[in-house]
Amino acid sequence: MAEIHLKSLAHSYSKSPSGPEDYAIRQLDHVWHKGGAYALLGPSGCGKSTMLNIISGLVQPSEGEVLFDGIRVNALSPRDRNIAQVFQFPVIYDSMTVYQNLAFPLKNNKVPAARIKERVQEIAEVLEIEDKLHKKAKNLTADEKQKVSMGRGLVREDVSAILFDEPLTVIDPQLKWKLRRKLKQIHEQFDITMVYVTHDQLEASTFADKIAVMYDGQIVQFGTPTELFEQPNHTFVGYFIGSPGMNLIDVERCEAGVRFGSAEVVLEPWQIEYLNRLSSTNVKIGIRPEFIEIGLEPKVNSYEVEVLDMEDLGTYKIIDLGLGDETLKARVDEDFDARIGSRVHLTMPPQWTMLYVDEFLIQEQS
Ligand code: ADP
Ligand code: MG
Repeated sequence: MAEIHLKSLAHSYSKSPSGPEDYAIRQLDHVWHKGGAYALLGPSGCGKSTMLNIISGLVQPSEGEVLFDGIRVNALSPRDRNIAQVFQFPVIYDSMTVYQNLAFPLKNNKVPAARIKERVQEIAEVLEIEDKLHKKAKNLTADEKQKVSMGRGLVREDVSAILFDEPLTVIDPQLKWKLRRKLKQIHEQFDITMVYVTHDQLEASTFADKIAVMYDGQIVQFGTPTELFEQPNHTFVGYFIGSPGMNLIDVERCEAGVRFGSAEVVLEPWQIEYLNRLSSTNVKIGIRPEFIEIGLEPKVNSYEVEVLDMEDLGTYKIIDLGLGDETLKARVDEDFDARIGSRVHLTMPPQWTMLYVDEFLIQEQS
């Protein structure tokens, strides 16, 4: 296994890109450390597959370097890079048995026959397909085929990394959960660098120790699920992670900090200082529904808001609150009760009120 360093990497599928919008990967630096379990999370079209294909060598980046343990591999073929890649749809040989499919990558690498047998058995057990080993691949269900495809990725012991590109798309939801746990287990057992691509935040956070959130060809944050939740580095992370996502409000400057409509948000002195030096007018505040406090009585720096809607989700409720022209979402306990149309008081605790300029979080300099 290897540390994978993407250095000043950028990629455009166009031969003569005229601007950033022509890039599937905008210039980035990123390190996938040895032995980590990572997720690459982002919406469709943001560049996830392009990044995996650049790592495995299926795509040559138009700019920058790919380094494995510090050694440039740009010129190496996919085969010589020793990367296993599992795709969205099964890549298997229909005419071979499951056993032959799993043994194939090992045979190719001249692994001794006895070891092949052991290893195929081991992987088949993990994936729970040991009773299918002698079945022809073409007679398998879609789920089983994808398991075999995953097995072909997992079977080699000498790989630098395993890349999974939305591998559970064709798997039914119940089995999905199980397979994700299995992958995690395999990671713990074999300690291989794994990058798991998904557009599903739940999938990302159950598999990975650290998640790279990708948006528009950029990695906008690389952090633990908790970091992404508590300190979204970019408005997209705020919006994309969490259910519902972060409340994001366009604001204007004012004496005490910022305001929207008639609501003033008092900011910390360092935040005000930052805004004083700023020319951009793209300023937002963000607060997660979980961190908004609701009370029946006014408090210091609270706002009177109207209850617009309330959704009961069993163990908690999500309420929509009207403040001027904005609607904010707040998560409250299941026993919270208020009539639609009634007025309550909302507080935004300063430590959970984030300031975004040009979509990026402004952090206190230490
Ligand atoms: P994701 O995997 O996150 O859905 P992709 O890496 O597949 O994203 O695509 C990123 C961008 O590059 C998209 O705008 C897509 O249309 C474009 N793209 C992907 N593959 C090609 C290709 N072979 N030729 C031209 N454009 C491509
Ligand atoms: Mg893709």
